[in-house]
Amino acid sequence: MVLNTQDITYCKNVGSKRADILRKELKVETALDLVRYYPYKYIDRSRFWMIHEIEDEDTDVQIKGQVVEYHTIGVGKGQRLSATFTDGRHTIELVWFAQVQYVKLDLNTPYLLRGKPSRFNHDWNFVHPELIPLSKVTDDMVQGLQPDYRTTEAMKKVGLNSKGLRTILLGLLPDLRNGVPDTIGQDILNKYHLMSLTEALINIHFPKDIASMQKAKERLKFEELFYIQMQILRQAKRREQGEGYRMPIAGRNLHYFYEHCLPFKLTGAQKRVVHEIFDDLKSGKQMNRLLQGDVGSGKTLVALLSCLIATDNGYQTCIMAPTEILATQHYHNIKRMLADTPVRVELLTGSTTKKQREPLHEALRTGEVNILIGTHALIEDEVQFANLGLAIVDEQHRFGVAQRAKLWAKNVIPPHVLVMTATPIPRTLAMTFYGDLKASQINELPPGRKPIHTLHYSISQIQAVYQFIREQVGKGRQIYVVYPLIKENEKLDLLDLQNGYNTLCEAFPEYRISMVHGQMKAKDKEEQMQRFVKGETQILVATTVIEVGVDVPNASVMIVENAERFGLSQLHQLRGRVGRGADQSFCLLLTDVEQSKETRKRMDIMVATNDGFKIAEADLQLRGPGDFEGTQQSGLPFELKIASLSSDGQILEVARQAAMDILDKDPLLEDEFNRIYKEQLNRLRQTATNWSEIS
Ligand code: ADP
Ligand code: MG
Repeated sequence: MVLNTQDITYCKNVGSKRADILRKELKVETALDLVRYYPYKYIDRSRFWMIHEIEDEDTDVQIKGQVVEYHTIGVGKGQRLSATFTDGRHTIELVWFAQVQYVKLDLNTPYLLRGKPSRFNHDWNFVHPELIPLSKVTDDMVQGLQPDYRTTEAMKKVGLNSKGLRTILLGLLPDLRNGVPDTIGQDILNKYHLMSLTEALINIHFPKDIASMQKAKERLKFEELFYIQMQILRQAKRREQGEGYRMPIAGRNLHYFYEHCLPFKLTGAQKRVVHEIFDDLKSGKQMNRLLQGDVGSGKTLVALLSCLIATDNGYQTCIMAPTEILATQHYHNIKRMLADTPVRVELLTGSTTKKQREPLHEALRTGEVNILIGTHALIEDEVQFANLGLAIVDEQHRFGVAQRAKLWAKNVIPPHVLVMTATPIPRTLAMTFYGDLKASQINELPPGRKPIHTLHYSISQIQAVYQFIREQVGKGRQIYVVYPLIKENEKLDLLDLQNGYNTLCEAFPEYRISMVHGQMKAKDKEEQMQRFVKGETQILVATTVIEVGVDVPNASVMIVENAERFGLSQLHQLRGRVGRGADQSFCLLLTDVEQSKETRKRMDIMVATNDGFKIAEADLQLRGPGDFEGTQQSGLPFELKIASLSSDGQILEVARQAAMDILDKDPLLEDEFNRIYKEQLNRLRQTATNWSEIS
């Protein structure tokens, strides 16, 4: 039978009931779909263990030996059976808690014991192990690696536990051996020494040894990453061919601003990046560029200069920020810097009133507004531009790919797009999440910045922290105190914040303290922020709303409460809010008295380095890519089943290169030779939801 068309219902050991469950739980429709459900680990069946070698609870082991004694304890339902098993040198206890009457033990039979050890008091034992008489153990039972599958409760109820799945898959093996159509061309398989799909699928389930299991994994990981890159790069290619507004002039406004309004000299990196952007704007092709730069590296200025180039060429621009606070702050900053120029800047956010909106919409349509700054509000359909030529998205990690796409639709042909992010992301993730963008980097901070001192305190040392606050405020500095806020936990978190605010008010009756959080009305938020910005309050208590972009040079201390609840990159973002003025800045990370090993490790990294890229890499290693992916829901075109963005960087590099080689020669995959890629992409796209809407 042909696996990819074979309905799973009719496979051996399945039937309609199990098929329903497989469809529901694993989205398995065909036999091939099930073959594509990979084991998550293997048990080495060629290894026989000795009792003294047991060291953890996660490893399945098998031991040859004999039962030397057994007895039951208790009566009726609570009855259990305890046996002593020996490997000839040591003994270990075996325990059965239920249905002990069915357990038949024989003192004269040599057994092969299989199971997972567990720890009871200080001793190891086996609960409900499998005991197979050695005489019934055949060669193939103790060969190779036995696959173990993750299964759900619903699956277990119909016998689809790991063993059940293994049996079904064993039944499919003969058909699998007949071969399945490959999804990768022979030339690439040869070039990168990869297994064929058939071989890989056989060996992922039933490898004869570790080497062949690893080769199988490598091939399947390659395939996944290859198709993700194919999809991303094809999109990029398609867009590269897309026409873009030509902006060849560096004109009056830009020059005037540069000569007269710029409050400082640009850093070398800022200059370089502005040139890279200008080159794109001149080119006649649509720009899709990512601007990466650590917090405080001066991205806003680069954005502004880019906007001025567009203005001088007769185009409108917009800058989209993730929060109202940030949008408002950009607006005030930029408006102030452009005060001497005829360039008109406006603000549009969720709290712009209807009354203010009407004239604003009109001014956008007539082209009187040159730069529009705002939040999501500016991608709404009713916001129309006379001639939008450049859209800048600040702090992209809050936006999805689909939202970016909405910007493209704001003019006859898509405007140039510049995405700015302060989250330094490791290369592998950048290649995936921003793989369709060309990257520019600001790898230099403005001169005169003193590195921020980071200190880790446990909450039991709070008095020392208060003392520190007193000293700093005494020197005229201002202080942020930040609390975590997680959606699922919002109410409790806000309570924490409120309590924290009250405690600080009590501890420092002589200071004025502002508070902002996401649940406040925008007007109140703005008012509280402004009091802090103007120096009327000494302390700002906030949730992570201040994470991105807030710029108050006199604020030189960042205190993070419950620091263990933040990701490292997030902590780094927060820390970047200070260190902007001339004074020595500090970041105090407060954690519980009780700290896990991981927390301590993470805090140590924060204390040890100010390098955003190092921190991002460490975060990825410690927490896996989930944290990044979580904020990037719509960033990944297809689901990863076996490859990992945190540990398969090398395979990713190779897969990306392979995809690039193909697309360089045949961008639209029109050659007959490349048909398998086109077909597989179509198949994958049918099962992926979020990408299709924008491709
Ligand atoms: P980010 O990259 O985090 O968005 P900002 O654009 O907010 O950084 O800039 C951080 C601070 O550095 C701002 O106060 C800004 O005015 C200042 N700044 C930007 N560029 C320079 C420069 N070339 N020299 C000195 N200060 C600069
Ligand atoms: Mg910024």
